[in-house]
Amino acid sequence: MPHPRTGLSRIITYLVLILLPLVIVTVYNLPPPDLFAYNLGRGFALLALTIMVLQVVLAARLKWVEAPFGLNLTFPFHRRMGVFAAALLLTHPFLMVLGGGGWKLLLGDNTWYIWVGRIALLTLLINVALSVWRIPLGLSFEKWRLGHNISGPVILVLGFVHSWYASVDFTLGLMQALWVALLVVAVGLYCHHRFYTPSRLRRRPYQVVDVRQEAPNVWTLKFAPPPGQARFDFLPGQFQFVTLLRRRGLPEEEHHFTISSSPAETGFHTSTIKASGDFTATIGQTRPGDLAVIQAPFGRFSYILHPEARDLVFIAGGIGITPFMSNLRHMRDVQADRRVLLLFANKTEGDIVFREELASMEAAGARPELQVFHVLSRPGETWTGERGHLDREMVQRLCGDRVQSSMFFLCCPPPMTESLRQILRDLGVPDSRISFEYFSL
Ligand SMILES: Cc1cc2nc3c(=O)[nH]c(=O)nc-3n(C[C@H](O)[C@H](O)[C@H](O)COP(=O)(O)OP(=O)(O)OC[C@H]3O[C@@H](n4cnc5c(N)ncnc54)[C@H](O)[C@@H]3O)c2cc1C
Repeated sequence: MPHPRTGLSRIITYLVLILLPLVIVTVYNLPPPDLFAYNLGRGFALLALTIMVLQVVLAARLKWVEAPFGLNLTFPFHRRMGVFAAALLLTHPFLMVLGGGGWKLLLGDNTWYIWVGRIALLTLLINVALSVWRIPLGLSFEKWRLGHNISGPVILVLGFVHSWYASVDFTLGLMQALWVALLVVAVGLYCHHRFYTPSRLRRRPYQVVDVRQEAPNVWTLKFAPPPGQARFDFLPGQFQFVTLLRRRGLPEEEHHFTISSSPAETGFHTSTIKASGDFTATIGQTRPGDLAVIQAPFGRFSYILHPEARDLVFIAGGIGITPFMSNLRHMRDVQADRRVLLLFANKTEGDIVFREELASMEAAGARPELQVFHVLSRPGETWTGERGHLDREMVQRLCGDRVQSSMFFLCCPPPMTESLRQILRDLGVPDSRISFEYFSL
């Protein structure tokens, strides 16, 4: 478990790296030193390009980067920094113009490396616009990802070429060395992430050994490691990237799925998947014997990372139960001395997965000490449990005095998660006692 200081050291490293080129050019005081807007424009471009290199680092799923924060934080941060870098680069030519470069820089300069800069900027703006407005624009995730993965390195290389030839900063040997080093790191990491790792994992695929239907549209896939290889180690509640190699005309796409089994069960692991879109609609057509490329584990949605919290409140919406099953199964396997309240929201009774297993875990005297409340938004007439939505009144009533001390874990559809976070804050629960997992990154 990474210490909080580890996360701080990553943040400091990030800040030092993005500011390093600016510090170097400031120390060496390269000309023209007296044109504020011009130098600001130069600085914006240097900062933006360094951020773009680190975008590759953030997206490369490096354990060193991901472990202290989780991809839940690093991917949105990557998105925000992409928008920030685009804003800096968009401002960059205008500041150069205002600082004495003249309007010809924008319109009349036909030097090849100025055109390279214009193309890089335009590609970046399109890339950012498609990332921010992908869903309203009706662009599928797979097409967006393909475009993003191709255009990212193109923008980076064009940006480097432009800056190398257009900027006075690269008359300095130290800046040339730094730029080459950054480019090598970015290209190296990109190739490692996009080509080396997938081909290595593909050579030793896992195998689907069981497919079990849990509900009308939910299946559990059981994976076994390649012969002679031990299953990877993981914390309860972590997730994996899975590419199913099923052939039979079925799609071969990489998707994230939580590991729903306990790490204490050796030799296999499972994911429980709901048909909720194009790809997952085919999940029930998976057969024992199908192969699966697996990259894992990732994430921090684990009770293990909160050893101080004996009282836990788990709030699950629909298929958001999967990380809780892994956590609860692990607590059962290691007989963890924890007290858990599970609020499990579904639409109908038929949507409740793992109902019997949860009921058996509730047995008196068992560890963990579990209490489950099912909440249905569209219950049948015979339903005697909770009805409606998990609003403030219901959360307060079901949690009682656990609100004061429990660690809360939320895994629900994003609007429900946001509403629950606000309810918990209103009830006085600090953010440090709320952990949440989004099923979309
Ligand atoms: C950390 C995490 C854990 C998850 N765990 C589970 C789980 O245990 N069980 C479960 O049923 N679902 C889980 N999901 C959700 C699951 O990944 C999506 O339901 C699935 O990717 C949707 O794909 P689709 O093509 O069927 O749906 P679509 O309707 O085509 O896509 C719905 C949305 O899912 C996202 N998406 C689609 N394709 C991909 C992709 N290849 N990679 C990343 N995101 C994509 C996009 O935001 C898209 O808008 C998890 C998601 C995350 C992020």
